[in-house]
Amino acid sequence: MRYVNPEQDQLGRDHVGWDSNMDDAALFRANRGCWVLGERADREQYALVSAQGIVRQAIEIHGLVSVAGGRRAIEGRYLEVGHPVHDAYVGKPQPVAAARNPVTYFDSPHAARTCGCGCGAPVTLGWFLTGHDQKALHDRVAKIGTVHQFIEWFDRTYAEGERAMVSRVVSIAPHTNAKKACSAHGAGAGCTRLVADVVLSDAGSERVEWAVCARWLKENSDAYAWLQRHPVEAAELDAD
Ligand SMILES: [Zn+2]
Ligand SMILES: [Zn+2]
Repeated sequence: MRYVNPEQDQLGRDHVGWDSNMDDAALFRANRGCWVLGERADREQYALVSAQGIVRQAIEIHGLVSVAGGRRAIEGRYLEVGHPVHDAYVGKPQPVAAARNPVTYFDSPHAARTCGCGCGAPVTLGWFLTGHDQKALHDRVAKIGTVHQFIEWFDRTYAEGERAMVSRVVSIAPHTNAKKACSAHGAGAGCTRLVADVVLSDAGSERVEWAVCARWLKENSDAYAWLQRHPVEAAELDAD
């Protein structure tokens, strides 16, 4: 285990790595990122966290999120006793040669995923059986009409979706409001320092004002996108 500065860590953590005293939740939080992850990671269902040659945790990958510095972090959950992947690997020697990242993937015979086209076939790598992604895509095109009609419909719908998302974060400014606890993570999370006030609007509802920690600004994709589009405001925040 290694202590890090939560204000410099992309996920706002104070330690990373492994220690025998860490419980599963702490281990997951310390190892879900931030890694340089290649394209292969996008097709994987599971990752293993190893330390000292032993697998310490198995993670089910739900998605990968970009964090500062071009790295990515895993979104998902850690598996518990009784899950076939957990029972096959955790506590046993690392199945793949030690890499620089303690997080590794493997081709698992324990497929927990069925083909994304809905055919019901199990898949061990990725989301579809070979060719079934094309079938799934073209089934959806056919629901709209021709490929040309589909593209027109998509461009119209996607642009509207983007506008809706933009309206969620109205503004982000340095923290000055009276709130003493992080609105995103709650008082129980004990976020050490509030760095910003965020005004949100949800689908026409009245404005809601939050106070948030640096971690939320980095992990929330709407906030991250808003700050990317507003570099002047972003520079005013003392968020790292
Ligand atoms: Zn299929
Ligand atoms: Zn927080």
